[in-house]
Amino acid sequence: MVDADELRQDVALANRIAHQQGLVSAFGHISARLGDSDRFLIPTRSSPALADARRLLVMDTDGSLLEGDGEPNTEFWIHARIYAARADVGAVAHVHAPACVTLGQIGQSLLVLHNAGASFADGVPLFARVGLIRSRELGDQVAARLGQGRAMLLRGHGANLADRDVRSVAVLACFLEEAAALQLRALAAVCGDTSRLTPYSAEEAAHVRGQNQAPRPMRRAWEYYSSLVQH
Ligand SMILES: [Zn+2]
Repeated sequence: MVDADELRQDVALANRIAHQQGLVSAFGHISARLGDSDRFLIPTRSSPALADARRLLVMDTDGSLLEGDGEPNTEFWIHARIYAARADVGAVAHVHAPACVTLGQIGQSLLVLHNAGASFADGVPLFARVGLIRSRELGDQVAARLGQGRAMLLRGHGANLADRDVRSVAVLACFLEEAAALQLRALAAVCGDTSRLTPYSAEEAAHVRGQNQAPRPMRRAWEYYSSLVQH
């Protein structure tokens, strides 16, 4: 169990990782639930590159701002309503990742073509409605589309990820963009002919997912991504 200060540091770092990895630019945000409560930490309304552990806001699943100075990001409803719907979720990422946007635009669902992509073997649904998620109702619609999954695409917009903690959700956001980018590259190599691709079977994906989701590789991935923003 991480303490509150460490969690704040991790949330700020996760946001800066998303920026360093090109998953976001001026917009996007990663949040983390406070313990088992209905409250979560989320950056103020500015680029994730500027996320500051000391200035994170505390909000709740009803969208109330409880602590902190500053304005919340207007799409906080994505986070609030996913936490409300999923007691198992400890962190949420909302990114505007370019390969994810492209994949959603060409009507392709994510295929498991490489090891990190196996993390998404349960499927990555597409939320087809365009525009920002700026209401409780839209937040609920997004949470419903995500269902029990860990990732979804938003058409023309980006992706949402939900997982047990903020370190894993940041790593998964990087993995999802990597998987989407590799899929686009593979599609280009076969001139869009998906019959020439050989996605992992459900059994293969489950096997590899167990390997790359184990604590040690996830710790190593977090160590790697965070080292890029700290130095
Ligand atoms: Zn957005």
